[in-house]
Amino acid sequence: MRILIASPEAVPYVKTGGLADVAGALVKEFRKMRHDAILVLPLYRAIRDSTQLADSGISMHIPVGDRFVNARILSDKRAAYFVECDEFFDRPELYGTAQGDYSDNAARFSFFSKSVLEMCRKLNYRPDIIHCNDWQTGLIPLYLKTIYKDEALFSKTATFMTIHNLGYQGLFPVSDMPLTNLGWEMFTTEGIEFYGKVNFLKAGLIAADVVSTVSETYSREILLPESGVGLDGVLKRRERSLHGIINGIDYGEWDPSADKFLPAHYTQKDLSGKALCKRDLLSTVFHTGKRRRQDRAPLLGMVTRLSEQKGLDLIVQAIPEIVAFGVRLVILGKGDERFHKIFSDASEEYPENISVTIGFDEVLAHRIYAGSDFFLMPSHYEPCGLGQLIALRYGSIPIVRKTGGLADTVQDFEPLTNKGTGFLFSDLSVTGMLDALKRALCVYTDAEKMQIMVRRGMQADFSWKRSAQRYAEIYKATLREGKV
Ligand code: ADP
Repeated sequence: MRILIASPEAVPYVKTGGLADVAGALVKEFRKMRHDAILVLPLYRAIRDSTQLADSGISMHIPVGDRFVNARILSDKRAAYFVECDEFFDRPELYGTAQGDYSDNAARFSFFSKSVLEMCRKLNYRPDIIHCNDWQTGLIPLYLKTIYKDEALFSKTATFMTIHNLGYQGLFPVSDMPLTNLGWEMFTTEGIEFYGKVNFLKAGLIAADVVSTVSETYSREILLPESGVGLDGVLKRRERSLHGIINGIDYGEWDPSADKFLPAHYTQKDLSGKALCKRDLLSTVFHTGKRRRQDRAPLLGMVTRLSEQKGLDLIVQAIPEIVAFGVRLVILGKGDERFHKIFSDASEEYPENISVTIGFDEVLAHRIYAGSDFFLMPSHYEPCGLGQLIALRYGSIPIVRKTGGLADTVQDFEPLTNKGTGFLFSDLSVTGMLDALKRALCVYTDAEKMQIMVRRGMQADFSWKRSAQRYAEIYKATLREGKV
């Protein structure tokens, strides 16, 4: 199959969250499966600074409202294509700064969505599937049903829309509607109107042939009014074409036996390197004199976007008790200014127990996964979550809220049978989280039990192969059964 993956971010080029891991890994797996898969991304400054690119010689004039904006297509050796437009993408961040989203995001991503389709025309590339990811590419399926409906090149192209996080929908004021170049007849409740605003994700949900999200549980949760973020009705109408496919992780990139960022390596059989990783992490992030004694204290890790979704309010409230338990907490994160401040203040107040690094740091992330005993994800909701999968792979036992993909990938520890890969809690409360933490600490005090559990987690298989096959099966079925 010819598969085009349109994504606002992808590993190894640029990443702010799990979507980048998914898009990058899928393309790689599809190529292994001998599909002709290409990736299309905006050419952000971060990509230009880090990747060697060749000019494809393709230039385009893309309508954005009543003006035309120039774009060029660049590519790299791995069959990824990049839409160059400095006006929109030559910026320090992808979507906005800590102060808020870029004000012209509607223009930027409707431009990107049109560019993806124009690029196919210029290359005479006839995709079987266009796989769109999140609101930034949500307009593509609708463009194919409207502006491009008579374009022969796309007559057999099916569209696939994946929701990585329903909390981000690409909502814009009605004054931005003309930037999409769609007619006003689309600005209805059946179309892309959403409580008086324009909703880019909704465009994908109504127009794509297939809709998917990134875990079974989340695919059911989003049909409910309490977790459908206003789109549960729209999704309910698409229920028959809605799939939940769990994400994987790239086992080449995330491998504690060969990870180039770690001071020592380890395997399930020989965990001694993990103790070294812990010691090294402690000496990197804590600068107090009592390290030796505290090597033995349990270490909780967090690598996360600092956003409300991640349950940070629970952590903030629980800090005094976490400290009182004698636990150490190491946090790496970037996001809302509010949390930057709260957590930085907490690390100043409890320098021996709480370490906070604000920023996006791939190297430190790897070292936290390897060096911590437990990995904390008390998310309010979690479409899939990659943190817990990486943590399992690195023998850091997940303590997670029972929601979305966390519920699908972590098995709660059962003291009677001694089974399970982590600790789950359902109640979105500080007590709920602390109860799970206390259960975890009980296991920690029993070194043998702890090792068994670490090993069991490391054995779990969340590699991409199975998920990529599932996507390919659904693509095939969609092409066979015809478009909806
Ligand atoms: P989300 O996509 O909602 O941010 P996921 O758990 O699905 O959450 O994926 C997050 C990914 O981004 C993981 O690979 C995690 O290691 C990585 N990540 C998140 N924040 C940081 C950070 N500050 N520095 C480095 N990596 C990070």
